[in-house]
Amino acid sequence: MLIRVSEIPAEGLSIQGVDVLPEPYHDSSWRLLRLSLFVEKDDADVFVRGQVEASVPQVCGRCLERFPLRVELPIDARFAPKRVPGKEDVELASDDLEIDFYADDMLNLAQVVETETTLELPMKPLCREGCRGLCPVCGGNRNLVECACAVKPSDLRFAVLKDLAARLPSK
Ligand SMILES: [Zn+2]
Ligand SMILES: [Zn+2]
Repeated sequence: MLIRVSEIPAEGLSIQGVDVLPEPYHDSSWRLLRLSLFVEKDDADVFVRGQVEASVPQVCGRCLERFPLRVELPIDARFAPKRVPGKEDVELASDDLEIDFYADDMLNLAQVVETETTLELPMKPLCREGCRGLCPVCGGNRNLVECACAVKPSDLRFAVLKDLAARLPSK
């Protein structure tokens, strides 16, 4: 959905419901579940505020299973018109890193939603709290199978001895 900035009414623009933004994500497995935004203009700047809820498939960082992650995020973004790069812009950028830009009087709302959703995704997603991950011995998913493997205490002791031996003087 493209919004022509010069046509945003003075009282602002209310954007409600996922039907307004069908498929805002490039990846069709991402799904928008809820959308509630308010777009407002202040001189040339545009503010987008509201709430987005989405379902994004993720791969668990511990057990490597795919799972749908539900993300709920507040949106509070400010957009300034993009100008020809100059000293003025450099100063502006270093002063306020939170500002994004729009160009040619157009604000792409789908892009805003996609960018904000992407920023909300965790660096190391977990399929559940306390995911038990994969067994380092047999590679089995420990959430699903209780495997009999155990890290043998003797191996640990051996590692300690080896470490100690390495630190002792050789003569
Ligand atoms: Zn997991
Ligand atoms: Zn195992």
